Amino acid sequence: MSITAELEPKLLDFPILSARSRGKDFVYLDNGATSLKPRSVIEAITSYYTEYSVNIHRGVYEMSERATAEYDRSREDVAALIDAPTDGQVIFTSGTTESINMVAFSWAVGHVSSGDEILVTLLEHHSNLVPWQQVCRATGAELRFLPIGPDGVVSQDRIDEAITTKTRVVAVTGMSNVTGYVPPHHTIVATARERGAAVVMDGAQFVAHRPVSVQELPVDFLAFSAHKMCGPTGIGALYVAPGRVAEMEPYQYGGDMIQAVHATESTWAPAPARFEAGTPNIAGAIGFGAATRYVRDVGMDAIAAHETELGRYLRDKVGELDFVTLYGVPGTGICSFNVRGVHPHDVGTGLDQLGIAVRTGFHCAQPLMEHFNVTGTVRASLYFYNRPEDVDALVAGLVRIRDIFA
Ligand code: PLP
Repeated sequence: MSITAELEPKLLDFPILSARSRGKDFVYLDNGATSLKPRSVIEAITSYYTEYSVNIHRGVYEMSERATAEYDRSREDVAALIDAPTDGQVIFTSGTTESINMVAFSWAVGHVSSGDEILVTLLEHHSNLVPWQQVCRATGAELRFLPIGPDGVVSQDRIDEAITTKTRVVAVTGMSNVTGYVPPHHTIVATARERGAAVVMDGAQFVAHRPVSVQELPVDFLAFSAHKMCGPTGIGALYVAPGRVAEMEPYQYGGDMIQAVHATESTWAPAPARFEAGTPNIAGAIGFGAATRYVRDVGMDAIAAHETELGRYLRDKVGELDFVTLYGVPGTGICSFNVRGVHPHDVGTGLDQLGIAVRTGFHCAQPLMEHFNVTGTVRASLYFYNRPEDVDALVAGLVRIRDIFA
């Protein structure tokens, strides 16, 4: 197979793709951890720092107005990426982790109580599991799990019984960062809405790799990070559906989130400022906006199509190796596996010697590792700038590692 023709020129947008690692051509297969950054994003951040690196909102001078306009434009671009309705809210956070914690502590603790249930899956990244454990500890609610099969697939026929009238929150991944599996969201959202439960979606992988419309998939909260989709680290967003924002309390207090402050009491600014206390990550937000424009220009449909096709090639080629065990199911650009008899860490170190970057370990998903009965896996994860040659290099590397350890 060859890379989709329309994506080929995009490879030139990523300066790091011509880098070398360990003296070899750099093969980057760790996009699940973070993506590489195109020139337009690097330039947007550099231009903020070189041309108008001043604070937003407070200044009445030209540069501050420019910084404020760019910051606000980024919010509009992020909203457009997920097709947010105009009466929804996009709050800038430091990333998916903070976004989910914000839902947990500025909304859930006030809306969940003893006798209620919070439903998650064993597929969750720790950042969509641990906050819910803490909410249950604080409120007395019960943490329950939507059943998954041995391959990590949600049991469709169990959704109806798992989401009960006691369920207040369904917190589910949009796409597993370990296997790439995409749960049946539409059924989950429709059932949750019918039972009066709010849906919190961890979109860290999903929003970066699939076209997402919160109008077609009406979740209550959607958390995602810029750095998984060509943007900078330390910035992300929480989308809040219309109606839900009025139910949220601020969870950090200070400058920028207030309307009026008196000696003994204060009032809050309207959202989203209410949830963005202090000087925000201005450069990050500007880079995030540039990243959303970039991936939309590449085309989310084209990204999804390329990853599905190359992901199939990846899984087929790795699966053909008779010394490898695969986990999960095909369908996306994430592939988890183990080389039998070799610790995943040793596989990762061996591949690194060949200039190939993969992730090894439990991928912040220890309960899923327990479910698969492994201590960790090797994960190769693609983005739209990966080529079949990257997969071929990985496969050749795995054969070499097998030979060395044999
Ligand atoms: N959820 C999933 C599925 C992820 O893959 C990640 C990052 O790896 C996160 C949450 C946490 O994202 P961040 O570290 O950007 O907050």
